[in-house]
Amino acid sequence: MHKLFSFSNGEDLGEFSFTEDNKGFNTVLNEHPEVKTLFERRDRYPETLTINGVNPVLHVIFEGIIENQLQTEVGVQEIYSKLQKEENLTPHAARACIANVFLHDFSVVLTEHQPFDQEAFVRRLSLIGTDIAKLSRNDRCPCGSGAKFKRCCSPYAEAFIVSPLAGRMDLGFGSYIFDTPANIEDPLHPIFQLEARYHIAEYMDTHQDLDGAVNVLKENIAQAESYQGRDFSKNAWQDYMLFCQNREQLAQEYLKAADHLISMTDGKDKGTLICDKADFLASKGNMETAEAEYTHLFTSLPTFYLSRYRYALMLSNNGREDDAIKVLTDLLTMKNFDNPTHEAALTLLGILGGDTSDFEFLC
Ligand SMILES: [Zn+2]
Ligand SMILES: [Zn+2]
Repeated sequence: MHKLFSFSNGEDLGEFSFTEDNKGFNTVLNEHPEVKTLFERRDRYPETLTINGVNPVLHVIFEGIIENQLQTEVGVQEIYSKLQKEENLTPHAARACIANVFLHDFSVVLTEHQPFDQEAFVRRLSLIGTDIAKLSRNDRCPCGSGAKFKRCCSPYAEAFIVSPLAGRMDLGFGSYIFDTPANIEDPLHPIFQLEARYHIAEYMDTHQDLDGAVNVLKENIAQAESYQGRDFSKNAWQDYMLFCQNREQLAQEYLKAADHLISMTDGKDKGTLICDKADFLASKGNMETAEAEYTHLFTSLPTFYLSRYRYALMLSNNGREDDAIKVLTDLLTMKNFDNPTHEAALTLLGILGGDTSDFEFLC
């Protein structure tokens, strides 16, 4: 029997061990498609796989255990329905709230080497959503065990907190979300999956799994393009492009992604992307193509003066200082362009030893 996962200290999931064809596990994995590739490639990473403090595989395993319990345990089913009806939770969040209590019980199994107490577990589930903070430690525990609160459910206070986002794969912020979004109440919202994949790709990259990272970022592009609610595709393409940019073996992929992004962007942003692409071509020794990109840009976006500065910078970086000086001098002779570009151009002209005296009064 191939174990799905074992803990770093060598202990496995004991009576909850299950194989890859386990029904509950697969149901949850299908709800968390962002974890699939990571799971399939898990042999490449340490067993203690964590991203932002979360082990995505264990996340699915624990939710899978509850999913299995929902098929057989009436007590668990009742709480599951109640949480959806009374607390307005999505099925996923309701199941995850139950998993939070399970996780607590299960850690006791591991640390104290006791058998799992299913009855105590179901009793505790009735306290999900109750505020137990005001209870006195010497009261009888409201779960009905007959024991004192301090000896029973008191350590579970945090696990009883109901959250609409329970079961969300929280692997970090920064690519699609910058803060916990107040208006999203579905832990399976695509924005969470997109964000999670970004961090999974990062994790794969730090473990030298370039192919894995590429696959996952491409999955994000596919998901972003098929998602109807909001347009995340630029975001997904950009993540992919930036990932490919500095990796020699992904140069062609970078160019493909850059062209795609350029086709979906307008104005100065488009201009900046074209400059980046041209610089990239130049860095690969394709000066002619790079220059053609710039020349074309000057006609298609004539008021994007920064592109002329960028062109001069590219020329000077490639040993063409004299040409760069000419481009900068021509640029500085133009009227009505923005101050930051003017200043940058003047500074570069000075560095390159060009004559700045005619233009300095303009600053
Ligand atoms: Zn209790
Ligand atoms: Zn989940």
